[in-house]
Amino acid sequence: MKQLFKHITLILLIALSACNDRTEYRVDPEFEPYVTLFTAEAALRGYHFNFEQTGLIIEFADLKDNKAGLCHFEKPIRIEIDKSYWKAIGEYPGGNLLREHLIFHEMGHGILDRDHLNQLLPNGDWKSLMCGGERVDGKSWNINYADERRTYYLQELFDKNTAMPDFADPVFSADSSGFENVFFLSFDSESKSDAGWSMTDVISHKISIENKRLRFESKSEAAFFVLVRPAVDVLTDFIFELDMECHSNDINAQSGIVFGSNEAGNESLEYFSVNKRNSVFTGNKNMYSFRVELRPENVSKSGRQKFKVLNNNSKNYMFLNDKYIYNLSYTHNGNGNSFGFLVPPGATIWLDNLRVAIKNSGQSMRVSKSVELNTFEVFEEKVFFREIY
Ligand SMILES: [Zn+2]
Repeated sequence: MKQLFKHITLILLIALSACNDRTEYRVDPEFEPYVTLFTAEAALRGYHFNFEQTGLIIEFADLKDNKAGLCHFEKPIRIEIDKSYWKAIGEYPGGNLLREHLIFHEMGHGILDRDHLNQLLPNGDWKSLMCGGERVDGKSWNINYADERRTYYLQELFDKNTAMPDFADPVFSADSSGFENVFFLSFDSESKSDAGWSMTDVISHKISIENKRLRFESKSEAAFFVLVRPAVDVLTDFIFELDMECHSNDINAQSGIVFGSNEAGNESLEYFSVNKRNSVFTGNKNMYSFRVELRPENVSKSGRQKFKVLNNNSKNYMFLNDKYIYNLSYTHNGNGNSFGFLVPPGATIWLDNLRVAIKNSGQSMRVSKSVELNTFEVFEEKVFFREIY
């Protein structure tokens, strides 16, 4: 009986495929621009596709198990894109790149016949846009798909043998000399010049000095961005560093430093953070998700980390516990002078030695006129560190 059933299925399949249009072209208008772009990028590299002639189906679906896209190896290739994910990422800055990343990944499978490739570059970035499938050490699939990295990932998509890109060089090579402190908090006493923020105990949080460190206790279910505004524009070359220890019951809670612009309409906060799984993240508060999850070996097991970011020639170089780990292109649109730290919901953190330095004093006056100097802010915000699937 089972055998008969199998035969019937087989006959049905043959019958179905016989009446299928094997060259059907049906791409939802939402996906068209990305298919056009894929065709153009392919042509630059000697691959000439004409999907309207050879067939391609890309359609919306409700995918299970947090899948964002799915490629079916049928004639023609049929790609399903999860409707809610597509809509969600489109609502954030950079969403068009996440969409491109998703379509190109699926077309990598279906059109370029590429399998998943889960290797890392020397700096911890995924080696390929084609990462996916079975998780590797629980590391998320987020790819920093922007700027010079986008150029690399596009090239790698069409050519697996693409050389290691410069951004992935694990050796620090920028110039970090000649920086002078313009702002420093030692947290040795409660005086304003030492502690910066006022000592306070309110319903949402408590700030105090404990053993010559600033103690910030969150009593909130939201994350805190705690900022100071020194006379340094984030668009100039600067060094920002801070010692930080975080105690949280949530192994996924991220604590770290934040910096960015606060110009009206252009607010943008970058974060550089760690969690208790020894993962390091870089991201921007405005974006759908963190850019990338890194697993450097020098995350301190004690929970006390020294974060440092050097902004040099529009690039951020990140250091953790005095070791260089990552760089990325600078993405702020507006001027501003927000520097501070991120406290996860319900966590307690201790800070020491907050330092902001600039390359030379001539630069420091590029501060927006509307910005007050050395003002201290605490604001609560629901932040979700989503993942990209
Ligand atoms: Zn895949």
